[in-house]
Amino acid sequence: MKRKFSHVIVVGIDGAGSFFKDADTPDFDRIFADGAVTYDALASNPSISAECWGAMLLGVGPEVHKLNNGIVSSTPYPVDSPYPSLFRRIREAYPDAELGSFCDWNPITYGIVENNIGVSHDTATDDELVPVVCDYIRNKKPDFLFMQFDSVDGAGHKYGYGTAEHLKRIAEVDVLINDVHSAAADAGIIDDTLFIVIADHGGTNPGNGKGGSHGGWTDGEKYVTFAASGKGVKHGIISEMNIRDLAAIVLYSLGIDAPEFDEQGWTAQIPDGLFDDADIPPYRDISHLTGAAPRISKVPHTSELI
Ligand SMILES: [Zn+2]
Repeated sequence: MKRKFSHVIVVGIDGAGSFFKDADTPDFDRIFADGAVTYDALASNPSISAECWGAMLLGVGPEVHKLNNGIVSSTPYPVDSPYPSLFRRIREAYPDAELGSFCDWNPITYGIVENNIGVSHDTATDDELVPVVCDYIRNKKPDFLFMQFDSVDGAGHKYGYGTAEHLKRIAEVDVLINDVHSAAADAGIIDDTLFIVIADHGGTNPGNGKGGSHGGWTDGEKYVTFAASGKGVKHGIISEMNIRDLAAIVLYSLGIDAPEFDEQGWTAQIPDGLFDDADIPPYRDISHLTGAAPRISKVPHTSELI
């Protein structure tokens, strides 16, 4: 398969849900003005970080990868898993590729990414991490860079998701997104980069000044922001996608064949209306799968901090 982009940069915003549409985000709006955007991508069910980031980086749902926050915090991701991470799939296709995983919540790098495949990595708070990442982009021009910001989720837990304080933190992270985008421009790679912003889940707003939570399947928890910009990306609204589709999007962009669609395994797909490519198969409905179910979850809201 032809490689479409030399570089893919994914900026993950933990706990942002669909709330980008309510926040003051001029940089996000400008970066994706000609790109593809949706505020209705579906999270994984349950709407918890490990289940969601795991689905995105592995291309399989939580009912298959079976990761949770406790596991990814305490167990290195198996290097021989039948569900390799995107990083391993890219490494196997391109042995010399520069791969980076820079996450505030380090269990993503520790518990979802294999530790033996030469992935550059670091962890720090969002504001501290961005200068490190920008230097990394300028110096290494990574083939694939994944990063995760955690502060938006922190604001949601503390103040409630969708509150003024939560939206203010999204606005502050907007500046950080622009820093990363600008670093790719400084490095001279932005014209050959697929640039993505994606959230893992949203959360609730109980009001009364109480903090929010997530893990359930209310609209505030299950709908998330996804945006992509780059050559060949169609301008407009993506009608239907699941966050796990990130895995298919990244492989397609780097010219790597994805596994066959399999309800017991790989269920990541290229959303309709994302790329200007008639050869992409029609999007399949996966809503009957447990980890993608658009139903009221029986999973209770948890006190998960992430
Ligand atoms: Zn999360």
